[in-house]
Amino acid sequence: MSSKKKVVHWFRRDLRILDNRGLFHACKSEAQILPIFIFDPDILKKFKDKKDRRVQFLWESLLDLSTAIDKKGGKLRIFYGKPADIYKKLIEDGSIQAVYCNEDYEPAAIARDEKISKLLAKSDIEFHSFKDQVVFRGDEVLKKDDTPYRVFTPYKKVWLSKVGDDDLGKHIIREHNFVKKLSTELEQVTSLKEVGFEPIENVFKGGRTEAKKLFLKFLPIISEYKNNRDYVFKDTNSNLSPHLRFGNLSIRELVRQSIKIRTDGARTWLSELIWREFYQMILFQFPHVVDEAFQKKRSDLKWKGSDEHFKLWKEGKTGFPLIDAAMIRFKKTGLMHNRLRMVVASFLTKDLLVSWQKGEEYFAQKLFDFDLASNNGGWQWSASTGVDAQPYFRVFNPYSQSERFDKEATFILSQLPQLKNLPKKFIHKPHLAPLKVQEEAGCLVGQDYPEPIVDHAGQRLAAIEMFKDP
Ligand code: FAD
Repeated sequence: MSSKKKVVHWFRRDLRILDNRGLFHACKSEAQILPIFIFDPDILKKFKDKKDRRVQFLWESLLDLSTAIDKKGGKLRIFYGKPADIYKKLIEDGSIQAVYCNEDYEPAAIARDEKISKLLAKSDIEFHSFKDQVVFRGDEVLKKDDTPYRVFTPYKKVWLSKVGDDDLGKHIIREHNFVKKLSTELEQVTSLKEVGFEPIENVFKGGRTEAKKLFLKFLPIISEYKNNRDYVFKDTNSNLSPHLRFGNLSIRELVRQSIKIRTDGARTWLSELIWREFYQMILFQFPHVVDEAFQKKRSDLKWKGSDEHFKLWKEGKTGFPLIDAAMIRFKKTGLMHNRLRMVVASFLTKDLLVSWQKGEEYFAQKLFDFDLASNNGGWQWSASTGVDAQPYFRVFNPYSQSERFDKEATFILSQLPQLKNLPKKFIHKPHLAPLKVQEEAGCLVGQDYPEPIVDHAGQRLAAIEMFKDP
């Protein structure tokens, strides 16, 4: 049994040592700090593909964190096992006074933390959890009658009027008194293979070092964000979402910067960060959204779409070039522009009449920046079942979205090169090209590229009927 008292800092969605509230308070406790991360088999089993892009990104983020901790004279311990089992072993070591961490608002994480805190309490070990991944927790921005907002704009207005220096304060500590050695070292994870995954190459690397590079690349163009953000062929958005998912950057540092730059572009970007918190608030206040429609009256909609259409959507074989290009790239990389997410989600639910839950689940399996609150919020918004959602009678026209946001078909052609010799006006609607034009372009619809699997105008009416008559 070791004599020196130690506290654990349990890293989860806060993989950085700078401006980390939980770690800041752990350091303030003046005990030695044992930094740990736990790969939980109950979470990992949800990732069906053994070459998972998110797990790879997480691993890279942990390596970066581990280097930062090394530089401060400590060592990050990475464990594999059910958190309760890991804590039981740490308790046996007899030297832990308290556990520090940052709050996580997903229902499963809340249940896990309650369990761990009870387990620790039995051995008189304190459990301290801090708000860190949001500026305002789900119960902090409420209407005058103390009930949660259901509409974004007034929520955002109050959020902005409330936010002050205290909420955005930097939590910096220079002296990290990290534990160097444990009397009994538990078995640690040293490679992805040991947790059942294989390495895979991603477009974006994980870790705070990479996150900072992306943010520095984005800052000079933040003021153009409002003008650029919807054009799907541009790479002018921040690409920070996976880093925010794992806390490689603190939300406070992003908000501080965007408030400082007083331009419309920076204000619009800040609005998106507030959308992120809005959906976290919704998940916290209305956990039923995980399994059902936010709007209870829309829980029993009779989705008439077929499995065959769902499969063609996933494979990018719908005959709608913008949809297909988005889905093909998504399958290859896990990446998708926000505008495209809205367009493909609207198409699946309102053109193919397939339930949003199926689309949500497919995204959850593949999306590089998967986050339960934002994914659920985005799908329910698109399907008109969610909070402050798109009205049901507003159905995106996939052709006009394509002509508007990928006018020159730059994005489409990057994924569908077989369309490249068609005249520009037909790239958005290849099936309308006369046969002679198709032959000259070497792209026969029905052979080299699919016929549209549905008629948009007819499906739009069918969707409206379905919503009118749930
Ligand atoms: P930027 O445009 O640079 O925005 C900055 C940050 O603001 C993002 O990193 C993100 O944290 C936040 N943000 C931006 N837009 C939204 C939004 N609409 N809702 C919530 N937060 C937002 N975002 C995820 O992080 N994870 C998801 O699983 C996810 N699933 C989605 C599913 C659907 C159907 C839709 C329509 C949207 C989804 N989004 C999700 C929101 C959005 O598409 C991504 O956050 C954004 O595309 C990430 O790119 P970026 O980092 O370049 O964003």
